[in-house]
Amino acid sequence: VAKDAGKDRWRRYESSLHSAVVERHKLRADLDRAIADGAFLLHFQPIVAIGDRRTHGFEALVRWNHPTRGMVPPAEFISVAEESGLIVPLGAWVLRNAVEAAAQWRLLHPGEDVYVSVNVSARQFRGREQGFARWVLQEIDRMGLPPASLLLEMTESLLLHDDGEVAAELAELREAGVRIAIDDFGTGFSSLSYLRRLPVDVLKLDKSFIDTIASSAEQHAVVDMIVQLAAILQLQIVAEGIETEAERDLLVTMGCHLGQGYLFSRPLSYGDASQWLLEEASGLQRGSRTAA
Ligand code: C2E
Ligand code: MG
Ligand code: MG
Ligand code: MG
Repeated sequence: VAKDAGKDRWRRYESSLHSAVVERHKLRADLDRAIADGAFLLHFQPIVAIGDRRTHGFEALVRWNHPTRGMVPPAEFISVAEESGLIVPLGAWVLRNAVEAAAQWRLLHPGEDVYVSVNVSARQFRGREQGFARWVLQEIDRMGLPPASLLLEMTESLLLHDDGEVAAELAELREAGVRIAIDDFGTGFSSLSYLRRLPVDVLKLDKSFIDTIASSAEQHAVVDMIVQLAAILQLQIVAEGIETEAERDLLVTMGCHLGQGYLFSRPLSYGDASQWLLEEASGLQRGSRTAA
């Protein structure tokens, strides 16, 4: 009986493993069609001055509107797209649409310099004949967006495991005025000493740090130190995932200027983001809101 139970368990394990592989395969096939089908969309989360809540920019976050599954979050398909190489055309679609949105916002608000922040995967650097930097600069030029209105977010591992090729592309972008951020800062293998050498302008402090600053004195001290170090190195900090007033207050006291999170706003549709800017421009009072 025990042996049968073991066999049974194995069979169940095998079949769940099998279905996971089949699932991933199906996901990949669906993904291949999704760009042509126009199934991707972007949401935009406001990045605000946490002191006075004025909007400085928006992070573009991709969503996949799947025909049968509904809205699929990026956590479920970005890694598949990276493995299959689809991240190159998908990333191009994201950048193009994010740049277009930012260019439109400039027209709506000639006085406000809101920037757009775009997530970039390592694989995207190797997907272009003419070079990643040349291509990005062409895209922003075509839409008439000033380079300073674009921020590119990359992970620490992308920057650390670089053989010099990525560094050369980043140097070209920064030369032209595009800014570079380290995303999810603090979750990688960062040694603080290497920060000085990396070609970056902004640190996006990972949500996991923010989650605990109000409850742990130790975490509070760590974040305080990162904020001070960033000031010395003349790096801007953007705190990610601020959800409570307590977190906001602590960050303000530490001297952290920018942040994003549900406390201010969830990611918004393009229309709602435009509305958000219009209301801010007309000085309307507002609270937190949700995506359509
Ligand atoms: P990320 O770049 O670190 O983006 C921040 C994530 O935190 C977003 O999740 C955002 O919706 C979420 N978030 C923001 N504020 C809060 C908060 O207060 N509380 C909580 N619980 N969450 C908050 P999302 O949109 O699901 O994106 C997940 C990740 O997928 C992103 O993390 C990014 O790494 C990746 N991603 C999204 N869009 C793209 C893209 O166009 N290209 C690439 N390569 N990756 C992308
Ligand atoms: Mg990001
Ligand atoms: Mg992040
Ligand atoms: Mg994150």
